[in-house]
Amino acid sequence: NQAKQANKILDWYTPDLEEKMAWRLGLIRQLRQDFEMSKLEVWYQPQFSLETNNVIGCEALLRWPSGNGDYISPGIFVPLAEDSGLIVDIGQWVLEQACKLQHQLSAQDIDISVAVNVSVPQFKVNNYAEQVKSTITHYQVSPEKIELEVTESVVMDEVKTVIETLGELKSFGVEVAIDDFGTGFSSLSYLQQLPLARLKIDRAFVKDIPDSDSGAIADLVISLGRHLGLKTIAEGVETQQQADVLKKLGCDEVQGFLLAKPMPKDELLVFLNATDHDK
Ligand code: C2E
Ligand code: MG
Ligand code: MG
Ligand code: MG
Repeated sequence: NQAKQANKILDWYTPDLEEKMAWRLGLIRQLRQDFEMSKLEVWYQPQFSLETNNVIGCEALLRWPSGNGDYISPGIFVPLAEDSGLIVDIGQWVLEQACKLQHQLSAQDIDISVAVNVSVPQFKVNNYAEQVKSTITHYQVSPEKIELEVTESVVMDEVKTVIETLGELKSFGVEVAIDDFGTGFSSLSYLQQLPLARLKIDRAFVKDIPDSDSGAIADLVISLGRHLGLKTIAEGVETQQQADVLKKLGCDEVQGFLLAKPMPKDELLVFLNATDHDK
């Protein structure tokens, strides 16, 4: 019987799994090393008003150069950074980059917001709100121009702490958006308790517009936003038809390859100088 059980465990613990774990550990080690050697990059994707077509903000997105000219996808390495705890330091660094950009933008009289993604482990840091506030203060950025994007998983992780932390940041002036809205386990009741400015409609509900029922979900999220007094922004807009449908549904803003892809900071500054933006 014991042998049976051991075999079961051995079954599960295949070389394949061992390989996978080694691969993960190697990747985490490399990520830590590259982060410490300042090899990570932050790119920015512009966000547009559907009403004025102006740029109203941008989202900071991590990029990890693999060394041979391409990039390892954040979809792969962000979860590793989260599991290993590295995301706490990396996330702080991303916030600092966003503040530096914001400082540069206001020197050029460009009045757009910069959004930063925040993961669960960052909220577990004792004085997370304090840390964010002092970073923003240090870079002399106006807090209204920094937006934090949290997913439903962040909110549901520790509802009370997160609501408190976000509340503290909101009263400091920082804006909060719910990212990938509709893909997590959302209890709608928390929406009213959170100090939110925006709902981000996930690409999953945008990509099949106008062919399928996904338009119905976008419609629902947009109405929900309107009823709660929140702005809605659609992610992953790739076609003019999607933008047209979203506008007709009353969506406020869009972000997607149709209008602009994520780009390095220098390119963003060139882009903003050639494009109408808020103020
Ligand atoms: P997200 O926050 O939902 O970011 C939007 C993702 O959609 C980005 O992927 C962006 O490049 C992509 N995207 C934008 N427009 C389009 C489009 O029209 N079509 C398609 N197919 N994709 C589009 P990216 O840069 O690969 O990032 C993936 C995820 O990694 C992000 O999803 C976010 O969850 C995470 N991530 C990225 N940077 C950070 C960071 O600094 N901190 C944390 N905690 N997570 C990050
Ligand atoms: Mg995001
Ligand atoms: Mg998203
Ligand atoms: Mg996402």
